[in-house]
Amino acid sequence: MSESGAFRTESSSGRRARLETLREAALHRKVLATHFPAAFNGRWTRRHWAHASLFATLGALVAAIVPGFSNAMQTPSLTPRTTLALALPALPLAQLRGHAGDSWQLVTVQSGQTLSSVFNQLGVPKSTLQRLMAHPDAKNTLTHLKPGNVLSFDLPVDGQLRTLRFDRDPTHRVELSLQGDQVQARVIERPTEVRTVVLSGEVGDSLYRSARKLGLTPSNVTTLTDEIFKYDIDFNDDVGASDRFSVEVDQMWRDGELIGTGPVQAATFTVGGKLYSGFRFERDGKAEYFTGDGRPLKRTFIRMPIPYARLTSTFGNRFHPILGRMRMHEGVDFAASIGTPIQAAGNARVDFVGWKGGYGRVVILDHGHGYTTLYGHMSNFGKEHVGQHVDQGAVIGYVGMSGLATGPHLHYEFRVNGVHRNPLSITMPPPEPLGGTALAQFRDQTGTALAKIRSVENVIYADAAPVRSARRSKKA
Ligand SMILES: [Zn+2]
Repeated sequence: MSESGAFRTESSSGRRARLETLREAALHRKVLATHFPAAFNGRWTRRHWAHASLFATLGALVAAIVPGFSNAMQTPSLTPRTTLALALPALPLAQLRGHAGDSWQLVTVQSGQTLSSVFNQLGVPKSTLQRLMAHPDAKNTLTHLKPGNVLSFDLPVDGQLRTLRFDRDPTHRVELSLQGDQVQARVIERPTEVRTVVLSGEVGDSLYRSARKLGLTPSNVTTLTDEIFKYDIDFNDDVGASDRFSVEVDQMWRDGELIGTGPVQAATFTVGGKLYSGFRFERDGKAEYFTGDGRPLKRTFIRMPIPYARLTSTFGNRFHPILGRMRMHEGVDFAASIGTPIQAAGNARVDFVGWKGGYGRVVILDHGHGYTTLYGHMSNFGKEHVGQHVDQGAVIGYVGMSGLATGPHLHYEFRVNGVHRNPLSITMPPPEPLGGTALAQFRDQTGTALAKIRSVENVIYADAAPVRSARRSKKA
């Protein structure tokens, strides 16, 4: 494990900027298309089935975050998508479309349009709308209508509204029938299918663009650059157009349409002929990414509690600007504007939240194994309270200048068994690797994932030079 690698977190702003630049670059370099080996269509492991339920929720989320995502999937590709054709039963909505003479009218909600304006447009009286809205199944969805949502009205030419249908979420359709003064609700479950796929391509001119073209979500790309590979690959300088990546994700399909993509399950990145990989695994109910041999990719501590902050005072003896004499500076200072969020350097139990003399508003975290961190001069605390557990990266407070401070900054201390150490140079403890049953489970899962990725890559890159299977190793 590379310790110096942790310093790379500091360059993530640059990387993000780079990603933005790449995103902006109006270049369309052809990227190898998605391949779906036949093996994915049949067998599902228990894990995949478990994901299926999760995806009902997740899919909705992804769909909400990524409008136009399905469009991105429809970019022409080398591989026929017909291999994915689904034998799904016809859905009510399909039947609704294009049947002349029937009483159904479909309304796609336009930007700025309200529910009452839709009803008004169709000549449905306000009282009917009110009756429908009184029903709990209508209230929740219909008060949060978004442009693009489709409402189906069963509205005879010279009659009153009989039925209103809408999708509550990607997997549930609600049907509200009006019978006299009664409103009857029926929730129809829409069949969906979860498929585990490997999306593989070359970086080309833009990793972001290539990845999106393949069907990965923006959040998938962030997982690759900021979680899985950030310690080993410098996305600013190391990655070339012919470098390639393969990502295993679960996709949720409904009615032949991709409606959601889950988190990255496994990924490989080949840079300069060297293979890096990362695997998602849930430890104690929390998903993390691991190396092939079960070591967490996440470092135990992040070096800087404020990403991208400027170091203004180093560890060691210095002239104290307020006390007017030489004094040991037992931490490091990062300048940032008032209100900048301060993150927990590692998973911890909150040890102290309060005022401490010259430190002003202080939070002290206990990370176990003798490691504690202190954050001073805060303007405000986060929501944490003493005894509570916080995760690495959680916001525990905000930059200020409380106590003895000449300007807004974070005073950050790192102690090992009570002794102050320089957080910027100390060798951080390696994160705890998987062991026992967890490791066995992990090996089981990753073995399958890696085999899938390899089989896909073998198809795509059959003519490419063989890639040496390397364990993650320190970059020079
Ligand atoms: Zn300080």
